[in-house]
Amino acid sequence: MILNLLHDRHSLTEVACIKRAIEDRYGLYGVQVHDRGYLYVPFKGPRLDASELLRYMAGALLGPKMCLWVVDEELFYPGKGAIFGCSAGKSAVLSRSGMDQAVLAKEAIHEVGHVLGLNHCQENCVMNLSISRDELGKKSSSLCPSCSTRLLIRAAADSEFSR
Ligand SMILES: [Zn+2]
Ligand SMILES: [Zn+2]
Repeated sequence: MILNLLHDRHSLTEVACIKRAIEDRYGLYGVQVHDRGYLYVPFKGPRLDASELLRYMAGALLGPKMCLWVVDEELFYPGKGAIFGCSAGKSAVLSRSGMDQAVLAKEAIHEVGHVLGLNHCQENCVMNLSISRDELGKKSSSLCPSCSTRLLIRAAADSEFSR
């Protein structure tokens, strides 16, 4: 399974760190990260509508590929307010605004978990829902046993299909 990573022009260090974090966490389940480079953000403003970004990404990219797009700007979701990141289907978007690298990498692992089919989880797990920066800082960067099992089942099914 290939995850396409897209980003802005200024975040090469963060991108390297996110790529490493995702491959460390999900390599076991057959995930490889491809750096697809810069994707122009067609919306303006200090806070961007994540639902528009997700729609744009789905249209701008070829086919139903798994993607994570890291943007400079803060994000909001209509009806929900400020968010760190969000996903829809196989696409996810993540804001690097004001995030240190370790926290950004953790949130990237969370969003990629959604892209791989995981839901929010109540265990001590990277799939906990984080509303505040405090919650995000405190939560685990690992998967709990039940989320891990779910991904192993999915990875096994994927390799059946590709045989
Ligand atoms: Zn989430
Ligand atoms: Zn979990």
